[in-house]
Amino acid sequence: YGEGRVNSRGVDLSDPQALAALGKEMDRAAAQSWEATPIVGGQARRDGKAASQQVMDPADNTRVVGEVTWSDQDTIEQALARAERAQWDWDNTPAARRADILRRAADDMESRMGELMAMCTREAGKSIPDGVAEVREAVDFLRYYAVQAERNFSEPQVMPGPTGERNELYLRGRGTFVCISPWNFPLAIFTGQVSAALAAGNCVIAKPAEQTPLIAAAAVRILHRAGVPQDALHLLPGDGPGVGAPLIADPRIAGVAFTGSVETAKLINRKLAERDGPILPFIAETGGQNAMIVDSSALPEQVAADVLYSAFASAGQRCSALRVLFVQDDVADKMINMLAGAMDELKVGDPALLSTDVGPVIDSEARDMLEGHAKAMANQARTIRRLELGPECANGTFVAPGAFEIDSINRLQREVFGPILHVVRYQGGHLDKVIDAINATGYGLTHGIHTRIDHVVEHISRRIKVGNCYVNRNTIGSVVGVQPFGGEGLSGTGPKAGGPHYMLRFATERTLTIDT
Ligand code: GLU
Repeated sequence: YGEGRVNSRGVDLSDPQALAALGKEMDRAAAQSWEATPIVGGQARRDGKAASQQVMDPADNTRVVGEVTWSDQDTIEQALARAERAQWDWDNTPAARRADILRRAADDMESRMGELMAMCTREAGKSIPDGVAEVREAVDFLRYYAVQAERNFSEPQVMPGPTGERNELYLRGRGTFVCISPWNFPLAIFTGQVSAALAAGNCVIAKPAEQTPLIAAAAVRILHRAGVPQDALHLLPGDGPGVGAPLIADPRIAGVAFTGSVETAKLINRKLAERDGPILPFIAETGGQNAMIVDSSALPEQVAADVLYSAFASAGQRCSALRVLFVQDDVADKMINMLAGAMDELKVGDPALLSTDVGPVIDSEARDMLEGHAKAMANQARTIRRLELGPECANGTFVAPGAFEIDSINRLQREVFGPILHVVRYQGGHLDKVIDAINATGYGLTHGIHTRIDHVVEHISRRIKVGNCYVNRNTIGSVVGVQPFGGEGLSGTGPKAGGPHYMLRFATERTLTIDT
């Protein structure tokens, strides 16, 4: 990609030998019991008053995957104090050395593909292809931000000035960054946030989603082994009120990176605004009411395949996933029938099987919310298809994929984070109304267009307010350094993950002027 770096190749799942080797590694890893604890100063902390809890497999709620010890107030205090003390040394470590450490972590992660994938599957319910993509993305983030650190943080930019005056612009770390990451990309987004913050010269306190602490602990161990100083990175498993809230209230922190729901992003934003002390940067990546517009010139078979993947891969638990499909009315019946037929082929079940397309949703709270929504849709809308779950889904938190026809995107009050698709017919000639309705949701993350007419592509892509617009393909699976990812409006503050400007938001800029 022209940056002295290539993205990770992952595993070729069509190669039987590679697949067999991967399966062995995954089985070996899955036979172990994993553990997450607070990791402060490089040490696993099990000593405090904090409770511990078993972590269960979302695909089979009778299977214990590992154990997590939550963080108590003393542990939080220690992490904050140690990070503050470590800041000067880490920020003054040459960017090239920080980059080397991240590259070493990337190599280690890549060599542990099977183990990390097993964790993605058992702790987060990720399918095998999703697991490969997850580990690859984490590795790519590490290598990408390593290059960005070297490029932007090694030498100051010399600015023009009059004779006798030298002006230099430096990028420096800000201090202690709090990174709050989601369960839907428990390795990739966790690693992306943490590595960007570290590469920019910040110390990091990471709070992973309470559903997926095990894989986050594995990532922190890898980063420490690769050479991240023990006091420059701490892990605090816990929930929002117990760990997130005291961290963001603390005057010693210098910024917050958050990926998760828009409600939580707004709450954090409010709390940060109410604090005494400095005004902090807040980087939020939230959800979307992502739509796709399919006009009558589109290729139906391709549309069906891309819609299926965009809406139901990862059980719809991607913030990029397709939620509302707009189909031009003269092709709508045909398209909807084709989509329904394609949905019948989806295999829902154990994510550890390569034949599975749709795994479980993350937990019973998510399942109950989605079932509630599907029930409401079944009453208020036309059911295009609702699959039935087989006996293999009996012990897990599965939600049957569903598609419902509604008359307007305005029927949806909030993002429905799971395998439920909504379909709206629109009349040819009313394209602008469709675009305006999508923009009016206030979200702006991903958007899909299927058409064979160039000026339609141009018209929609200019007018639609989203961070990532995809034409004649699916709308998920952004690639680091290729499709910088992130939205606007209710979908986030930017900057884009895996893009050239992301790390800059983790840095502060200083100008040095010397009269000579
Ligand atoms: N980058 C991911 C994608 O393009 C989505 C990230 C998320 O769900 O937060 O599918």
